[in-house]
Amino acid sequence: MFEMSEEQQLVLETVRRFAREEVAPRAARVDREHLFPRENLEGARRLGLMGMPIPERWGGAGYDFLSYMLAVEEIAKACASTAVILAVHTSMACFSVLNFGTPAQKEKYLTQLAGGSLLGAFAITEPEAGSDAGALSMRAVRKGDRYIVNGTKIFITSAGAADLYVTFVSTDPSRGARGITALLVEKDTPGFRVGRLEEKMGLHGSPTGELIFENAEVPVENILGEENKGFSLAMSLLEGGRIGIGAQAVGIATAALETAVAYARQRVQFRQNIASFQGIQFMLADMATAVDAARLLVYRAASLKDRGQPHGKEASMAKLFATDTAMQVTTNAVQVLGGYGYCREYPVERYMRDAKVTQIYEGTSQIQRLVIARHLTK
Ligand SMILES: Cc1cc2nc3c(=O)[nH]c(=O)nc-3n(C[C@H](O)[C@H](O)[C@H](O)COP(=O)(O)OP(=O)(O)OC[C@H]3O[C@@H](n4cnc5c(N)ncnc54)[C@H](O)[C@@H]3O)c2cc1C
Repeated sequence: MFEMSEEQQLVLETVRRFAREEVAPRAARVDREHLFPRENLEGARRLGLMGMPIPERWGGAGYDFLSYMLAVEEIAKACASTAVILAVHTSMACFSVLNFGTPAQKEKYLTQLAGGSLLGAFAITEPEAGSDAGALSMRAVRKGDRYIVNGTKIFITSAGAADLYVTFVSTDPSRGARGITALLVEKDTPGFRVGRLEEKMGLHGSPTGELIFENAEVPVENILGEENKGFSLAMSLLEGGRIGIGAQAVGIATAALETAVAYARQRVQFRQNIASFQGIQFMLADMATAVDAARLLVYRAASLKDRGQPHGKEASMAKLFATDTAMQVTTNAVQVLGGYGYCREYPVERYMRDAKVTQIYEGTSQIQRLVIARHLTK
């Protein structure tokens, strides 16, 4: 069903080599020392991976979305932190400007984002608005040619590392989610600063933190799309974003599966390889089957997006299944490696820690089920 084109095959091979030779060797250190993977992003920029599905006219590489998913998967297999930074930058920041920006905004921001000289972030979550993102309360009041913005965002990927933050604010609180507007906020905006960074279970190379706005002054020309239309803009972007998180989850799960198979084939107990025990074989078979099914769901959603067809339900299915698979497969990989699986000497405990968050961000697994059910019953 999904025969890759020659171009997609080439993308896969190129990114696989980059991930294996440059990204994977740094991954354990990035995790252990909580390093921002700047060299990986520089390598990605060199290969044109910072704006893969963005048209060349706007500084991107002009690939289809499926090629971009192949790249996210390969990078996640090596380093999930690098993959999520890249995925948020591309799916959420680049696509925000591509789909909703004015020609002037595209010229000013998108060419640099897609070319990799600017890093993008996407800020919607607040302390009282997580799954219920429409309840956000960050306030923006128009004063002449500026919006004066006050409030706090939390859990923002690439906080402090990004140059441009697609930020969702309330411009008309009386209208709730229908009073939300998207603004492009440059990192040096007066009154804007990065607050506390979270100490997390995993994804240690990807900074996650607070954005604080205290009478921050954002030029009115930095409005993205129309005033009070920001919520639907965010939801449409999340459809693509969720396919990317699905691809990230497939990458993590694949890495765990390959490590488990290799270990099982060489670990001897009771005078035989543990791979010869049916208990281990069944676990590996279930892991491999789930990973392939997850990958196909990701490919299907990406292909629908490439063909310009509705893909909201399929994106949520791909994210739901792939992220649950990543959690299950990484947990079982730890089991296959026994005591070594629980220790830092092998990478599977990192895979397990990194996998968990894929079930949480860009809509939790529960929210994906709500989205799928809404599509089924509307
Ligand atoms: C590492 C990391 C990076 C992130 N990056 C970003 C980012 O770049 N930008 C950004 O804006 N946000 C980001 N987030 C925030 C993330 O999207 C939210 O954490 C997520 O949407 C869940 O919101 P919450 O944490 O407030 O949980 P809550 O919404 O409080 O949910 C708590 C629990 O209740 C469940 N729940 C909530 N509502 C329902 C319901 N209606 N039915 C059934 N169950 C429900 C949830 O599924 C969950 O299990 C990030 C989070 C993390 C951890």
